[in-house]
Amino acid sequence: MLAKATMQSSSPRPRLVMKFGGTSVANVERIKNVAQHVKREVEAGYDVAVVVSAMSGKTNELVAWVKEASPLYDQREYDTVVASGEQVTSGLLAICLQAIGLKARSWQGWQMPLRTDTQHGSARIGEIDGSGILKSFAEDGAVAVIAGFQGIEPKTGRIATLGRGGSDTSAVAVAAALKAERCDIYTDVDGVYTTDPRIVPKAKRLDKVAFEEMLEMASLGAKVLQVRSVELAMVHNVRTYVRSSFDNPAQSSPGTLICAEEEIMEQPVVTGIAYSKDEAQITLRQVADKPGVAAAVFEPLADASIVVDMIVQNVSADGKTTDITFTVPSADYARAMDVIEKRKDEIGYELLQGVQDVAKISAIGVGMRSHAGVAAKAFKALADRGINIRAITTSEIKFSVLIDVAYTELAVRTLHSLYGLDAA
Ligand code: ADP
Ligand code: ASP
Ligand code: MG
Repeated sequence: MLAKATMQSSSPRPRLVMKFGGTSVANVERIKNVAQHVKREVEAGYDVAVVVSAMSGKTNELVAWVKEASPLYDQREYDTVVASGEQVTSGLLAICLQAIGLKARSWQGWQMPLRTDTQHGSARIGEIDGSGILKSFAEDGAVAVIAGFQGIEPKTGRIATLGRGGSDTSAVAVAAALKAERCDIYTDVDGVYTTDPRIVPKAKRLDKVAFEEMLEMASLGAKVLQVRSVELAMVHNVRTYVRSSFDNPAQSSPGTLICAEEEIMEQPVVTGIAYSKDEAQITLRQVADKPGVAAAVFEPLADASIVVDMIVQNVSADGKTTDITFTVPSADYARAMDVIEKRKDEIGYELLQGVQDVAKISAIGVGMRSHAGVAAKAFKALADRGINIRAITTSEIKFSVLIDVAYTELAVRTLHSLYGLDAA
């Protein structure tokens, strides 16, 4: 992917990609502040490409309008509507940059172009043609202000969006395509923390996080970076920093570097705790204990593109049959229940139960590879606080527990203290 990234080196200046999220461009005042951050880097000698999100709350508003227009909407028209938020901020930032004496030009996804696959609403990036931007760097050094989150589906020529939080991915992909020295993701916190600093005030900022850990943290709920942006940073080895746009624009803050594991000297057993409230639990009671039953349950879910996460199978109360419990993303809950209900006879279960008010709490750390009993400690600590564990999954560098949503904050804080992550 990104194969068409241009190799021209007509510009002698190093290149930098700066991305600003919704709260960083929430109004014109904030956009003027972003312009100051950009100015600092231009003056430091960089050719700068800036990727912007929509103003905070704007994308939610646009999505709500689409749903109000029709609950069953055309995904291509959804993209037409929701991509508009980034168009506004890219133009406004270009104007603010010009107003402080910098050359700047806005670029929509179709203008670069940033080509995507056909999955409207959550498209993946195929390739980015960076030649137009590099030409403009070479010609007049204009800052390229890119509308994040959007691209063009080349077969139809229609606008496609990259899924919620997708501007992070636009930024890293542009950095790879332009062969930028680094990609700075500016947001409303000054780095990646040991857990969401909004729910644990004692969370600590990390100087560095390994790609693998960041990938797990993002996919397990830490929305500070979109998962795909981390994948891209890892594959293309893009030096990616998370920084705050709320810091004084006159000096840049250290932020958090997402990098290869080898670059991190001291590796704690657990690096971070993530949580997600976007889970739902489904249980099939009294399923016959015979070969082929698991396939009968999970194949139709896979066919419906529903991702099943945690799976627990245990003996039913009658001692003869089994109960099968699993989790799905809450957005797919109704569809998953429908798929299983329609196959009741084929699967052969007594009762179908669904629970939506559950949360998944995860602990992540590459240090877990070489330490035993890390998860066991957590089970005990949660039990001591009366928190019931509904399901568990473990893998090499993380484990997750499913609990009642009401205990989310308590569980996150408990694990954060347990693994010595609290700030002094
Ligand atoms: P933006 O609009 O800039 O893309 P987001 O709201 O998508 O910003 O992401 C930033 C938010 O991510 C922070 O405000 C914070 O509440 C949340 N967050 C969750 N987990 C973490 C973490 N481990 N470290 C830092 N921020 C986190
Ligand atoms: N504006 C889009 C969203 O809210 C993309 C982004 O902010 O990264 O999901
Ligand atoms: Mg975001």
